[in-house]
Amino acid sequence: AKEKGKNQYALCSSAMKQQVLEKTLLTNSLYRALERNELVLYYQPQVSVQTKEIVGLEALVRWNNPELGMISPAAFIPLAEQTGLILPIGQWVLETACRQMKEWQALGVQGIRMAVNLSMVQFQDRSLLSIVERTLSETGLEPECLELEVTESAAADGDDYIVEVLHALKELGVSLSIDDFGSGYSSLSRLKTLPVDRIKIDMQFVRGISNGNDDEAIAKTIIQLAKNLKLHVIAEGVETGEQFAFFDKNRCDEIQGYFFYKPMPASEIESILLNMNPL
Ligand code: C2E
Ligand code: CA
Ligand code: CA
Ligand code: CA
Repeated sequence: AKEKGKNQYALCSSAMKQQVLEKTLLTNSLYRALERNELVLYYQPQVSVQTKEIVGLEALVRWNNPELGMISPAAFIPLAEQTGLILPIGQWVLETACRQMKEWQALGVQGIRMAVNLSMVQFQDRSLLSIVERTLSETGLEPECLELEVTESAAADGDDYIVEVLHALKELGVSLSIDDFGSGYSSLSRLKTLPVDRIKIDMQFVRGISNGNDDEAIAKTIIQLAKNLKLHVIAEGVETGEQFAFFDKNRCDEIQGYFFYKPMPASEIESILLNMNPL
């Protein structure tokens, strides 16, 4: 048994080395991915429940790796956050999304906002405010057209500094939304003090809706909460007609999900937008 224990230790240790090695290699290639222009943005429409028109787009990053193909953000954003690479990546995402929106506006696209995800790590970075400010002025995008998404867990963080940053961002004229709402533990009194415009109902509650279980009650409660606090509310991950009907009936403002559109590359979104807004 002793012998076995020793072996197990050796195994574990080499597995750990392997992990570190893989992480280092992946970090290096992620670093190069930025330089080599391997990151791409997909855009997923946000749709008005009443008019079924596109009212917003969420920019979602992907890594087009020459060997591995398209890699989802779930596979590399956590690593980017651990290594700090999320800062240059996040900046690239912001600039690319703003420049893209400005280009689409020049082609006649109007009344659509661009939503960009911000990581907690970006919020803790002291240059966030100046980066957003500079990006808006360099791209010429009106601040009203930009929405920044912050996860509920970041917004719920006890840190007063985050609240100050949120206020300062609002001052710039951009709008703010709380992503994955319901998945974190933000207190309602805290939510009231945040200068946010919109909450996004976490997908996990949308999943259960066709079953008529507790998720329906939770989704209804979040919609009601948003109305009471005079916030806009959007449901994410809506995939079925039944789910859509639920959000229609319960007067959710907007939905985002495969039921209407999947995230798409810029060229595909562009033809949809130009069909909506012929010059
Ligand atoms: P998220 O911000 O909650 O984004 C929504 C995710 O749900 C996206 O996954 C989207 O493709 C997916 N989705 C939308 N509608 C449906 C649906 O009807 N059904 C299902 N099953 N999924 C749906 P994606 O693009 O893989 O992104 C995953 C997460 O990665 C994002 O979750 C966000 O947390 C993070 N992420 C993506 N892009 C960025 C970025 O530029 N910066 C940062 N910091 N995080 C990002
Ligand atoms: Ca998001
Ligand atoms: Ca979300
Ligand atoms: Ca999420």
